[in-house]
Amino acid sequence: LAARLQPFTSTVFAEMTALATRTGAVNLGQGFPDTDGPTGMLDAARDALYGGKNQYPPGPGRPELRRAVAEHRTRYGLHYDPDTEVLVTAGATEAIAASLLALADRGDEVIAIEPYYDSYAAAIAMAGAERRTVPLTSDGTRFALDVDALRAAVTPRTRAILVNSPHNPTGTVFTRDELTAIAEVCVENDLIAVQDEVYEHLTFDDVEHTPLATWPGMRERTVSISSAGKTFNCTGWKIGWVCAPAELVAAVKTTKQFLTFVSGGPLQPAVAYALEHELDWVEQLRTSLAAKRDRLSKGLTDAGFSVWPSAGTYFVCADVRPLGFTDAEDLAWRLPELAGVAAVPVSVFTDHPDEWNHVLRFAFSKRDEVLDQAVERLHQLR
Ligand code: PMP
Ligand code: GLN
Repeated sequence: LAARLQPFTSTVFAEMTALATRTGAVNLGQGFPDTDGPTGMLDAARDALYGGKNQYPPGPGRPELRRAVAEHRTRYGLHYDPDTEVLVTAGATEAIAASLLALADRGDEVIAIEPYYDSYAAAIAMAGAERRTVPLTSDGTRFALDVDALRAAVTPRTRAILVNSPHNPTGTVFTRDELTAIAEVCVENDLIAVQDEVYEHLTFDDVEHTPLATWPGMRERTVSISSAGKTFNCTGWKIGWVCAPAELVAAVKTTKQFLTFVSGGPLQPAVAYALEHELDWVEQLRTSLAAKRDRLSKGLTDAGFSVWPSAGTYFVCADVRPLGFTDAEDLAWRLPELAGVAAVPVSVFTDHPDEWNHVLRFAFSKRDEVLDQAVERLHQLR
């Protein structure tokens, strides 16, 4: 294995899910839902499968999906040309990797906000670029972006910043002030923003997601990434997309065409259908996830954890110290045996594990009875 990839031999999600399966633990580790997406979308996939749509789709993606993605962006007041400014990818994961491979040269620096989604570090390394991290800091009520640290992280070699909002693993949705600061740093230093918006629809209460591309000077320098997995409960389909100015999309297409070329042919029209016809279903999903967030947050609190509020995503973070634990990573690997529940240690998403080694991430994207069973089991920890 190449030296630059030595730190990335396994993913915490695969390992934790394998451990949960082996031990029969309730898996609140890997974030995926345990119910299916809208029936109309599943029907559309079946129709495509039996309707002869089983060969290579066009390189940039099926035209009906590119049109649906562009139309969907207009909800934010953003306009993209489906022919030149939209690219369909194998999930957001490929979009992120293809973007970094296309845009960062060896030795360039890429800023990631930590904790960061695990594939960011690996994709930066695959590109031969260097990772600079900027922390989120908790004031006890919320994880906030350290704007001074962001400004200090920029060097003449900085090429891009990876922004994930709504944020996995903390459930943070960046405020307008935080996004304004990121936009200013990008514009002042001529940086590209790669924004991962896979949880764009999964915000709760009155919190709304606003893409960075809507800020002044940002549309022309932002690669916006999303995917169907979280919005339509189909994480295994791996249909994602990139929206960006034509020049940036052409760059990302250059790498994407040699990574997968194309993928998910018959699923692409089904996702187009969902984007056009199933956003009411998504509104119900959002309401139901907010209730699940409340259910799990209360359960974890009752079990003795101290829980941060989550404004979006599938996740809540919990402090393990009130239960007397001092090493959350060690606890996470023992938790399936100890209590029959799997969670993910947030320290593995950071370059500063000591500063995060009291935090576990729990997924609430599960049926209520699954959440209740997990909570009941966690009461044993007291
Ligand atoms: N980004 C974030 C923040 C995620 O949580 C995930 C996992 N769903 C992805 C990207 C990957 O998305 P996809 O499954 O579409 O590749
Ligand atoms: N995005 C999911 C999570 O954060 C997992 C995706 C994966 O297994 N790579 O849990």
